[in-house]
Amino acid sequence: MTYPLTHRQYYEGLKAGKLLGLKCKNCGSYTVPPKICCAECGGTDVEVAQLSGRGEIRTFTVIRVAPEGFKAPYIVALAELEEGPWLMGNVDGLDPANTVEDITGKKVKVGHRVIPPTNYTAGEGVAVTFLLE
Ligand SMILES: [Zn+2]
Repeated sequence: MTYPLTHRQYYEGLKAGKLLGLKCKNCGSYTVPPKICCAECGGTDVEVAQLSGRGEIRTFTVIRVAPEGFKAPYIVALAELEEGPWLMGNVDGLDPANTVEDITGKKVKVGHRVIPPTNYTAGEGVAVTFLLE
């Protein structure tokens, strides 16, 4: 079985300003980040699709103790995308040291940030970011 959309292709898409995912031909649901099958029904008849990259924050937290390669504090949020799936990402454009306002429900646009290699990765990584609209 082959992955219809590899994580490498997903990250390359993010770097090119495109949010790629899978659209299920069985149930019509979108899956992002990519998996081997539809996250909703488990179907394998899926096609690569570009999503709008727009969504709404559903919940968030401020990370104050960061793993290696990351600099605290930073904000991690779950956003519900226009197409349905929930995506995790880092919120940009706010000062996490001072963010006390509730950003739940705020509209966001998906972006990306390149993460330098660490002792625990095979190279650079790409993180999803959310910019408040
Ligand atoms: Zn499905």
